[in-house]
Amino acid sequence: MNQDHPKGFRVGFVAIVGRPNVGKSTLLNRLLGEHVAIVTDKPQTTRTRILGIYNAPGVQMALFDTPGLHRARGPLNRRMVDTALGTLSEVDVVLCLVEAGTGPGGRVEIGETVRWIAEEVKRSGKAAVLGISKMDRAPRETLLPVLEAYQALADWKAMVPFSARTGENLESLLAALAAALPEAEAPLFPPEVLTDQPERVIAAEYVREQVMEQTRDEIPYAVAVEVEEFDESERRDGGGLVRIGALILVERDSQKSILIGKGGSMLKRIGTGAREKLERLLGAKVFLRLLVRVEERWSERADQLRRLGIGS
Ligand code: GDP
Repeated sequence: MNQDHPKGFRVGFVAIVGRPNVGKSTLLNRLLGEHVAIVTDKPQTTRTRILGIYNAPGVQMALFDTPGLHRARGPLNRRMVDTALGTLSEVDVVLCLVEAGTGPGGRVEIGETVRWIAEEVKRSGKAAVLGISKMDRAPRETLLPVLEAYQALADWKAMVPFSARTGENLESLLAALAAALPEAEAPLFPPEVLTDQPERVIAAEYVREQVMEQTRDEIPYAVAVEVEEFDESERRDGGGLVRIGALILVERDSQKSILIGKGGSMLKRIGTGAREKLERLLGAKVFLRLLVRVEERWSERADQLRRLGIGS
């Protein structure tokens, strides 16, 4: 038996589910202390599944951030839902997130999406924990009615209000998740591993995040980023240079023009923002080359979806 991991060591997979904007990515980033999933004010930008490994004494959790679960229209969204549901079958625990706070008159409106998610969790037979996010935004006295309203929805192992922003109650949330995981003698992954996504996938995420940040409402969600070149031949211990070439796919010429901007100014801003974050991540200088290409209705092409890592 491994002396480092005595009895009581908990190991397993956790899926974070919830409607878009509930705070999944923020929580994941907070837990991992590293920015690996997209955080933006806009819903539905987290399309690929990012797996991060949370390590603490006595516990190791592999976390899945699920693409926005919602009633889907169109092939891309359907695939996102399928991916999210597929995730459920692979995990030990489901963390279902809802937002803290009550409506007018202290009423708690449980959205249709959350009901549907609770049904799917029930159907999957998985251990489930209800996380009530953004508690920093909701007055204390509103917590009780929220807890009461959600209690009946599923057989939760625990119901934990928390704030990913302030860190309040995160320890309780982690303890509840750990308690629901199976016991094991050894970790699944070496502790130094933060994510199983290669750096080039994170590079694509950073570029797409910058597209969303910089263009705000001008560009719809039909944007994908593919990293075509990731050249580390000039990378050195503690520095050097990494050359990255990324392709931004859009559906229409008008979107391409917006992305390029006047005299290339928009693309330059996107590139600068992404490059600065990549340099911090990689600990090296980054030469980032961005290209924008129009691929009509790319979001309906299944082979492309697969190439981009969405779905199976
Ligand atoms: P996701 O779509 O579920 O991944 O949601 P995000 O993590 O992108 O969060 C959506 C929005 O809620 C962002 O503007 C976050 O800054 C905000 N948010 C997330 N967690 C918290 C929190 O604990 N407190 C507050 N006040 N805002 C939060």
